[in-house]
Amino acid sequence: MNIRIGQGIDFHRLEKGLDLNLGGVRIPYDKGCVAHSDGDVLLHAICDALLGAAGLRDIGFYFPDTSPEYKDIDSKILLKKTLDLVKEKGYSIVNIDSTVCLEKPKISDFIPGMRATISAIAGTEPDNVTIKATTTEKLGFIGREEGIVAMAVVLLSK
Ligand SMILES: [Zn+2]
Repeated sequence: MNIRIGQGIDFHRLEKGLDLNLGGVRIPYDKGCVAHSDGDVLLHAICDALLGAAGLRDIGFYFPDTSPEYKDIDSKILLKKTLDLVKEKGYSIVNIDSTVCLEKPKISDFIPGMRATISAIAGTEPDNVTIKATTTEKLGFIGREEGIVAMAVVLLSK
């Protein structure tokens, strides 16, 4: 079996008055990610992990933040387009594992919805898409609630 691993990481600044989109789900909170797209840091990390595993370039290469085409775009569309690139290379998903690092809000109640959303787009079972959350114990920019980081690892098979 031809299997390949990929990893992705993404950072976004948090600012008051913006929508917080995470894993394809809107989370009620008074801050959201500053971005050219809808700022879904988790979906961006997953896209980069998928692209890496498939031997492709990064998310900024395919969906540049200078392009008006991607202004405020729903990152679920970017994930779908990324999966199309991965499929073109003949790969399918074995599993996606990810971690979101943020101080607030608590996202555990939203994780089942994120898994359902991502797995539906990816055409895989929710069991194959895992999402964990952690804080930095108030350390650094994450602890000061200035930003969010997401990391993802993907396994693909051909
Ligand atoms: Zn991003």
